[in-house]
Amino acid sequence: MKSLWVFHVNTGACNGCDIEILDVLTPYYDVERLGVKLVPTPRHAHALLVTGPLTRQAYHAARMAYEAMPPKPRLVIAVGTCACSGGIFHDSYALRREHRESFEYPLRGGASEFLPVHLYIPGCPPRPEEILYGIALLKNIVEKKVRGSWFSESAFVLPRESFNAWVEVLLRARIRKELGYFDGYPLLRRFMELVESSESKEELEKLVQKAISEESDSRLRYGLEKLYSYYLEVVRTYESILAAKRALVRLPK
Ligand code: SF4
Repeated sequence: MKSLWVFHVNTGACNGCDIEILDVLTPYYDVERLGVKLVPTPRHAHALLVTGPLTRQAYHAARMAYEAMPPKPRLVIAVGTCACSGGIFHDSYALRREHRESFEYPLRGGASEFLPVHLYIPGCPPRPEEILYGIALLKNIVEKKVRGSWFSESAFVLPRESFNAWVEVLLRARIRKELGYFDGYPLLRRFMELVESSESKEELEKLVQKAISEESDSRLRYGLEKLYSYYLEVVRTYESILAAKRALVRLPK
């Protein structure tokens, strides 16, 4: 999922968690760079952000918000210890609890009393970094966005001889603009392997079409199409320069 639109519902929180949610929206933490947007209606939301221990008063409003969400993906994120398990209010008379046959200890509370919670972010309140980390986990982008990764070009050697290597240099700048270096460079290497393994333009076209049809990620499919069209453009330019040189110095064909 590239973006995650969330609707926030307070089910009896002390406002501590709500302030932290506002914090991650500020330019300092800027959760929108992960594609997360706070929306004013549950009808547009992919995820319900629940704070608070789920009081009886808030139960019906939260349930209505949940039911108003589109059926897929309909995620629920419990933010704060109260939303996860009732927190400091766990034994309060004001909490809504599922009817149970026997007395349980500790008493339960929180969003999981009536919602299938997909992600728990505990903390009283959780720090903004913890909320960001939880969202990155949910979106499966921890590797890219949260863990530090440093790009280094030290291993790259500027090619001097091979035509394909020069083409790769030209395509690197273009694919970086399209997909960024994190996704773009591995995709370029994949594309160049196709180029190196094909004997003719027709064979390359077939290999590229096959790779595009087998690729499940639409961004990478788009990247392969772009790389192929850039590659053809570079080859055409090279051939026209060569033809002009031949005409000038009367090189043999
Ligand atoms: S987890 Fe702590 S900060 Fe959040 S609502 Fe509960 S008491 Fe307040």
